Amino acid sequence: MEPMRQQSRSWAIPFPRDILLVPVIGAFLRWRHSRLGLQLVAGALLLVLVLEGLFGPDIAPKNLTTLLVWVHYRGLLVLALLAIGNVFCMGCPLLLPRAIARRLFKPVRSFPRVLRRKWIGVATFVAILFSYEAWDLWSDPRWTAGLILILLGTALAVDASFKGAPFCKFVCPIGQFNFLASTMAPTEVRARDLDICKDCRTKDCIRGRREEESDKVIQQGCELALYLPLKEGNLDCTFCLDCVHACPHDNVALALRLPGEELVADPVRSGIGRLSRRKDLAVLAVLFCFGALLNAFGMVEPVYELQVALAGMLGTDSEPLVLAVLFVLGLILLPALMLGFAGKLALKFAHSSNRIGTHWIRMAWSLIPLGMGIWTAHYMFHFLTGLWTFVPVAQHLGERIGSPLLGAPNWGRGGLHESLVWPIEMGFLGMGIIGSLAIATRLVQQDFGPRWRAALTPWAVVHVSLFSAAVWLMLQPMDMRGTFL
Ligand code: SF4
Ligand code: SF4
Repeated sequence: MEPMRQQSRSWAIPFPRDILLVPVIGAFLRWRHSRLGLQLVAGALLLVLVLEGLFGPDIAPKNLTTLLVWVHYRGLLVLALLAIGNVFCMGCPLLLPRAIARRLFKPVRSFPRVLRRKWIGVATFVAILFSYEAWDLWSDPRWTAGLILILLGTALAVDASFKGAPFCKFVCPIGQFNFLASTMAPTEVRARDLDICKDCRTKDCIRGRREEESDKVIQQGCELALYLPLKEGNLDCTFCLDCVHACPHDNVALALRLPGEELVADPVRSGIGRLSRRKDLAVLAVLFCFGALLNAFGMVEPVYELQVALAGMLGTDSEPLVLAVLFVLGLILLPALMLGFAGKLALKFAHSSNRIGTHWIRMAWSLIPLGMGIWTAHYMFHFLTGLWTFVPVAQHLGERIGSPLLGAPNWGRGGLHESLVWPIEMGFLGMGIIGSLAIATRLVQQDFGPRWRAALTPWAVVHVSLFSAAVWLMLQPMDMRGTFL
């Protein structure tokens, strides 16, 4: 086992192991073309999905695009994030055409400084949540394919215009989701030994490895501007492993670690700065949790009754308008009230003169585990109850293109019964609330010393209230979106 860098975090597990040293998996990840291999496979699938979405059946449960995107992709995404890390960004096929465009356009301009925060990501994240509900994307193969093309076009336009990876870092809504969710991952790309970094002259992990004579880059460094010795946690890391290939001292590890530990620490992070100073990231964390609740709420019966009542009050039958009001209530007013009061009461109960703004930003991070628990419980419902539905849909696609290889569709295939899935959903919610309370406790212990219990009380009420709301939502009959069940 090679030596690891000294751990600076109190929650660090004592003997972290490096996945890159595990036989077969490690060898594959260290292979220079491993990412390209994953992207080519994902790219071929994406092409099929776009064509099937545009030209396949109109009925969502019979169309591979709506089924795979809204049922299977989302389920596998959250499972991979929790079990491994940000592997979906690692294999993201959107970056293939973008790589070609960059060779053609060779962008030299930096992304405008004023935009180098997560506010665009906040807007695209909300836009996706809103569009999904307002235009029932899950039931529309054409719009699902359109969404893929919009993301692809935006990635091309942004990254062909600016150097670095501004699309991933600031714009992509899936990327922002993955960055936040990967704070719950059990692995992290990090420098193995900081003493080696101290003596390192080239800093290739960020600059890229260059040819000595021509200074031409032969291996890209970190395009997300994360300098390994100062990198802390998974925020903004796409798991691209460019730094692994670029480091001339073989000093980068994919280390096992305790999920969530990075949410407690507040060092100056490369490419990010201090979390306690990042309002934009805190807003994203709040949206991540309340957006999870709102997204699940959009699938249950009471939402329809509320929509009818709101439509009556507003005197409109425009669904997008009613939804916009629901979004303002669920993503702005409710969090502002709950978190606003909790923060004020925490300072009052603890007789603290801490800055309220900094306190809110810090405590926003404690929402991430619960948010992840809600997203996972929700997505697991659709994924597990519709687990095998892709088989007859793929067989049907085979029939349509005249290939008998997959056999005749058996439309009776479904997935696990709801009674089996429910305990799994509760398990993820349970892990979420435990994680959120643990992180909230650590944060107030750091910030309030002996008065931490008083400061924790209002935040614990917030977390338990959100958890109870999530349990109630999961107990409601949920729409079987995208499947025949
Ligand atoms: S290139 Fe390698 S040794 Fe040098 S600073 Fe980066 S991770 Fe450390
Ligand atoms: S190059 Fe940057 S984004 Fe890619 S794995 Fe390394 S630290 Fe993460």
